[in-house]
Amino acid sequence: MHDVDEKVVASEIKKSNNILLVGHILPDGDAVSSLVSMSLGLEKLGKRTLAIIDDEIGEYLLEFPLVKEKIKRLDSEIEQMMFNEFDLMLILDASSPDRIGRIEKYLSYFHVIVIDHHITNTYYGNINWVDPSMGATAQMIYKLLSFLNVDYDEQLATMNLLGIATDTGFFKYENTGAETFRVAASLTEKGANISYISNRIHGNTPVEHIYLYRDVISKLKLASKGMIAYSLITLGMLSKYNILPKDSPSLVENLRSIKGVEVAMVFQEYEKNLYHVSLRSKEWADVSKIALEFGGGGHPRAAGFSIRTDNIDFEIQKIVEYITNFLEN
Ligand code: 5GP
Ligand code: MN
Repeated sequence: MHDVDEKVVASEIKKSNNILLVGHILPDGDAVSSLVSMSLGLEKLGKRTLAIIDDEIGEYLLEFPLVKEKIKRLDSEIEQMMFNEFDLMLILDASSPDRIGRIEKYLSYFHVIVIDHHITNTYYGNINWVDPSMGATAQMIYKLLSFLNVDYDEQLATMNLLGIATDTGFFKYENTGAETFRVAASLTEKGANISYISNRIHGNTPVEHIYLYRDVISKLKLASKGMIAYSLITLGMLSKYNILPKDSPSLVENLRSIKGVEVAMVFQEYEKNLYHVSLRSKEWADVSKIALEFGGGGHPRAAGFSIRTDNIDFEIQKIVEYITNFLEN
């Protein structure tokens, strides 16, 4: 089902008492914020919830105690519980089924509602509430929980603001609209603390990440008359500083900040020969189109995809050529 809103989702939620909440692999602030907020909010309505992700969560997000407490990693025990005790599955912030990892193979066993703000969403649920005008999935969660008359406390308000803050680059990206500020203001009135969030996200950088940044900058390359900036993080570079791939800093935004750069790109190896490619643009290039071309997805200014290769230099060259053409034609 297409073109639904929070009212349709709310009426489905009212019919179920045991609700599974699913987030995406390589989880980001919006994914964990949406899961924890839904979990807290639905529990206030007397529902039983189980929030799961088929991946590890980065250390910087585990700084929020509720993330560790509320989100479980998929394992055989959780799998059993999923099947025996839950009927409705809400999938948050995941634009296509491959984004939920191994949970994809269980989709047909559940009534599935997708809640997402990616323009590249493939509408793979039984019901799909997709709104690309929203700065974050967490912004949609606020709309939904407010419609359900959930009584926000400080904890819920802060956890809900986390995803809105991180997905909008703390209210500066193009996806920051008037509605984003209205929701943030309302969450602040309910006790959300933006500087608590910012200190955890920005004030907690391990010094090893700065050393890694130095190495990434030493590999920085520019192309297309300085419009493209790109670099590489290999497993070897991470192990030099004992950084786990899931904890690798993104750094792509630092490359985008360079004068004249329109598209920034970081190739990060997270398993041997398996790379995640992060794309960002500054003002006009639609990087979601580039990511789609390579089997991924995302937003106009932030997108990504994965590639498997034993010759990353060759792949980088091919992708840079493709983007050069994309920008110059
Ligand atoms: P990041 O570069 O921070 O990993 O991702 C930026 C944006 O692109 C996020 O909104 C994320 O959901 C999306 N994205 C990143 N990688 C993939 C991917 O492999 N597939 C899809 N569909 N979206 C991705
Ligand atoms: Mn998001």
